[in-house]
Amino acid sequence: MTGYPALAMMIDGHAVSGGGRRTHAVVNPANGEVIGQVPLADPADLDDALAAAERGFARWRKSSAAERAAVLEGAARLLLERQEAIARNATLEQGKTLPEARIEVLMVVGLFRFYAGECQRIYGRTLVRPEGQRATVTHAPVGPVAAFAPWNFPIGNPGRKLGAPIAAGCSVILKSAEETPASALAVLQALHDAGLPGDVAQAVFGVPDEVSRHLLGSPVIRKLSFTGSTVVGKHLLRLASENMLRTTMELGGHGPVLVFGDVDVDRVLDTVVPHKLRNAGQVCVSPTRFLVEERVFDRFAAGFAARAGAFRVGDGLDPESRMGPMANPRRPEAMERLIANARDTGADVLTGGERVGNQGFFHAPTVLANVPEHAAIMNEEPFGPVAIVNAMADEAAMIAEANRLPYGLAAYAWTDDARRQRRLGAEIEAGMIGINTTMIGAADAPFGGVKWSGHGAEDGPEGLHACLVTKTVHEG
Ligand code: NAD
Repeated sequence: MTGYPALAMMIDGHAVSGGGRRTHAVVNPANGEVIGQVPLADPADLDDALAAAERGFARWRKSSAAERAAVLEGAARLLLERQEAIARNATLEQGKTLPEARIEVLMVVGLFRFYAGECQRIYGRTLVRPEGQRATVTHAPVGPVAAFAPWNFPIGNPGRKLGAPIAAGCSVILKSAEETPASALAVLQALHDAGLPGDVAQAVFGVPDEVSRHLLGSPVIRKLSFTGSTVVGKHLLRLASENMLRTTMELGGHGPVLVFGDVDVDRVLDTVVPHKLRNAGQVCVSPTRFLVEERVFDRFAAGFAARAGAFRVGDGLDPESRMGPMANPRRPEAMERLIANARDTGADVLTGGERVGNQGFFHAPTVLANVPEHAAIMNEEPFGPVAIVNAMADEAAMIAEANRLPYGLAAYAWTDDARRQRRLGAEIEAGMIGINTTMIGAADAPFGGVKWSGHGAEDGPEGLHACLVTKTVHEG
């Protein structure tokens, strides 16, 4: 008995399941056992959701800011009360350790509280005109949003997909990952229990391509919000172009970390190694390419391998575990492919390099050193617990390598030289840059990338404005 809940879609305020619908088996990544079955939407379900979203938008766009704030505040309170149960189910379906899942709940609590305040500050402006005339600029909710959230932050991603549209006065149809449905449903339930009407926010699951084609092809939907891989993002952008949808795209990354010789190597390692292994590396802003100045390279590489090799890997519910399994069988398979390819190109495996145990989807924390530029892992997002550590000659070479890839999501740098810090902030092509810190996400800060990592931002006032359209009324 896992305590894992029965699963249903939430369409127009009703739990929808059974009725001969197809299902997807939800698996515990720690042992491979099936823990639930999530129903998959038929076209008729999606039509029901679209009709409800249209009604929901007509209602919610007229709601007062105070009403929206009360819902978001109330949901934040309920999420806190339910934190332990929500976090446990997230660990069961996604694998991450329980402390990491608890933090995810807090991330959504913080975001909902921030947007409860921010939705009351959607100001317009009046333009200077001759007496008797007037021109006003206002911001209105964009309309019903189709939001697709992945499995790596099963609580946090749905929180982001729901919070900003609800604050802006939009309705939302959320399709969260079929692998992690209970977490998404718990976030939605908190909003409904706090008074959000059932047609304003809904949850469907399905065959991803069927759902996205159906929703994005409907004239009801006015915005696409997607978090996931660049390849799927490009496909969805093409679909979204048909109806000229507003888009927010949070796509892949390949985080460079520039480590200069003037730092305290042990202090940096104590921060970056746990950050690399957070959520078994399945994080879009995960630090991946460690570009280390030659004079501290040997110490850095050896220290990284020692710390990563000692990291305790196990079931996320075991309090001793510091890293859980990977979320699905595709990930350890991808690690095996990338590591084998790196070995073939001449890279050194300093620690790890293989799966752990014979059940579930565990993979050892792995450190690769001296990895040539043409190795697949130097170009493809590993999305796993694998760090690349390469020696670099100087700052110019490090910046060139940081900017070599088409990705530009998160980048990190460690140096005590103030002038260099400013140069790096200006030169590195990334949406988020952490200098002497790994803390690059906050409710009040825009989160998003440049280049192939996508466009638009979530969180912060920018995330709210991404759900608004601008209208100017000129009066003669
Ligand atoms: P994937 O690329 O097929 O799926 C990524 C996400 O997109 C999943 O949640 C999936 O349900 C969704 N998706 C896929 N096709 C879709 C479609 N046509 N319409 C709507 N949603 C769709 O593969 P995956 O194996 O789940 O993940 C592999 C890669 O995805 C990772 O290596 C990583 O690069 C990327 N990823 C990125 C993030 C992120 O936070 N940016 C999160 C999860 C996965």
